[in-house]
Amino acid sequence: MGQWGPLALAALGLAGLMSCTGSEAAAPESASAPDAEQAYTATIDNARPIPEPSETKAARVNLNTRFSYSGEFTQGGFIRGVVPDDTMRASLGGQALEVAEDGSFFAAFDRDSAGTLMLSATTAAGQVVREELAISPRDWQIERVNVARRQTRNLEAYWKKRKPEYEAINAARAKVTDADGWKQDFIWPVKGRISGRFGRQRIYRGEPGSYHSGIDIAPGNGVPFVAPADGVVVLAQMGFSLEGGLLIIDHGMGLNSAFLHCSKIAVSEGDSVKQGEYIGNVGATGRATGPHLHWGLKWNSARLDPLLFVGPMN
Ligand SMILES: [Zn+2]
Repeated sequence: MGQWGPLALAALGLAGLMSCTGSEAAAPESASAPDAEQAYTATIDNARPIPEPSETKAARVNLNTRFSYSGEFTQGGFIRGVVPDDTMRASLGGQALEVAEDGSFFAAFDRDSAGTLMLSATTAAGQVVREELAISPRDWQIERVNVARRQTRNLEAYWKKRKPEYEAINAARAKVTDADGWKQDFIWPVKGRISGRFGRQRIYRGEPGSYHSGIDIAPGNGVPFVAPADGVVVLAQMGFSLEGGLLIIDHGMGLNSAFLHCSKIAVSEGDSVKQGEYIGNVGATGRATGPHLHWGLKWNSARLDPLLFVGPMN
């Protein structure tokens, strides 16, 4: 593996966490119902090629000359893989890709990204390895309503309260930790009725509202939930005006989980947590019409669908 200098990551989004107001009004969906969203996901497992027999004694055997990767190549999905051996630099869609010491990497696709992205690596010998990734669009749940989008009555007063909250959230998300949960297969933080799906959006008389930025799970008030992957706690605080009890876990490589509306947070900032470890309890704090856990996943500024990381509940 070549030398990896600090590679610039995409600028972090300035927006705070979206509340999931209104999502609770969604028709109950059975957790075991066939998941239409899954029809749009494609899983590609590009196994490492069988190495060619070496022609000379000096030739290196088992040299990996291609990318190997797997993932969910759709909006809100992700890619996890290993760059070719001797890679000096790699990029995805023209953006520098951060690569771990062992050559592994993680990247993800925003809710609104689609089309094709070029995965590219340049080796020490100057060879360029390219793979084209097709990111499929999703059939998002869109509701058109014949009411005006609700306006904030006193924007100045609202912002006065909200600004420090935004700043705390953005500062937490900008923290870089040595967590490596991004390498793991995620697990559900808690199981229960899905009361709101990722990506759902209302259009108010033609004006699009913000889409739902996470998945809502409603197992009941006070039910404990666990870390979906290893990580480091970067924010653990009650009392946010929209989010209520808010817990953010960094999984490393720019990937983080946010848990909203907690009735209790069982960990503190700086704590390392293991996958499956108890971290808090489901609640209805902040702007929520009923108890549920809103789980949001972000990779840098890209908002991701947690369902694609854990698969259907069973
Ligand atoms: Zn929500």
